[in-house]
Amino acid sequence: SVKSGDKNGFRFFYAIKSEELLRQVKLENDLRSAVSKRELAVHYQPLVEMSTGKIRGLEALLRWTHPELGPISPSVFIPLAEQTGVIVELGEWVLNEACRQVRTWQRAGNPDLALAVNISIRQFRSPQFASKVISILENTDFEPTLLELEITESMVQNLNESVMILGELKRQGVKISIDDFGTGYSSLSVLRHLPVDLLKIDRSFTRELTTAIPAASIVKLIIDIGHSMNLQVICEGIENPQQFKMLQQYGCEIGQGYYFYRPSSAEEIEILLHRRTPA
Ligand code: C2E
Ligand code: MG
Ligand code: MG
Ligand code: MG
Repeated sequence: SVKSGDKNGFRFFYAIKSEELLRQVKLENDLRSAVSKRELAVHYQPLVEMSTGKIRGLEALLRWTHPELGPISPSVFIPLAEQTGVIVELGEWVLNEACRQVRTWQRAGNPDLALAVNISIRQFRSPQFASKVISILENTDFEPTLLELEITESMVQNLNESVMILGELKRQGVKISIDDFGTGYSSLSVLRHLPVDLLKIDRSFTRELTTAIPAASIVKLIIDIGHSMNLQVICEGIENPQQFKMLQQYGCEIGQGYYFYRPSSAEEIEILLHRRTPA
């Protein structure tokens, strides 16, 4: 370990590096057993119909509470899971858990409640991905047209392969959503070649919406392109009423962000849904 008295900057550097590496290896190992140890939970963030305020769906967001380190951000452990391949197993677990949970909420008075689930590239390209999704839908009795798989532009490395995988899912009625739209390098070609249903405008655009003209113009353009292609457009990361109003003017129909709701545990979402469901 590193002592504060260590005068050797070089050794200091390597000590830090190896500690980082050790931490990473430890996290990787811990992540493998996190499911069976019940350290993982799926949280949900509402997707809101902008014109009515109605909750039209929920995005599943994975949470990991490490027994010693506490909550670890998905931006840390998802890339780790991706590197090691654990993401394939983890992703299946999330999909199954979220379908099961949202199905119970649909039965309890929200029959049209949609579910959006993030899919990672390794999972997307794993053998039998489409048939695994289809069997989870069957096992949980989940209506395929209410499932929205979120993929990103950068995942589409091989168009033919992607068209094949997505085609199988589309035939069952599953919806395809492009997450973080506008941040990749291939936005328009993805739209031209893939059977997409929804576009999620990345929150980096939303952040600059009311302060930077380029961001506002791009958002307006994405919304118009989306609509001309019969896609639904979702805007991520809405945090204030100014952003909300501007997006409403631009004709964006679905919003997500702290301005409406933060991601919450299943227990909290259940209370929220009950409160909003007419008796
Ligand atoms: P994402 O798919 O773009 O999910 C939206 C992220 O934006 C979430 O971060 C959410 O908490 C955050 N967010 C929502 N509204 C606001 C807002 O108004 N302001 C700000 N600043 N942030 C907002 P989170 O939960 O930390 O997840 C980060 C990323 O990790 C996700 O980005 C997604 O790519 C990935 N991820 C999360 N769960 C899963 C999963 O089950 N599977 C896979 N493959 N990836 C996941
Ligand atoms: Mg997402
Ligand atoms: Mg995502
Ligand atoms: Mg996103």
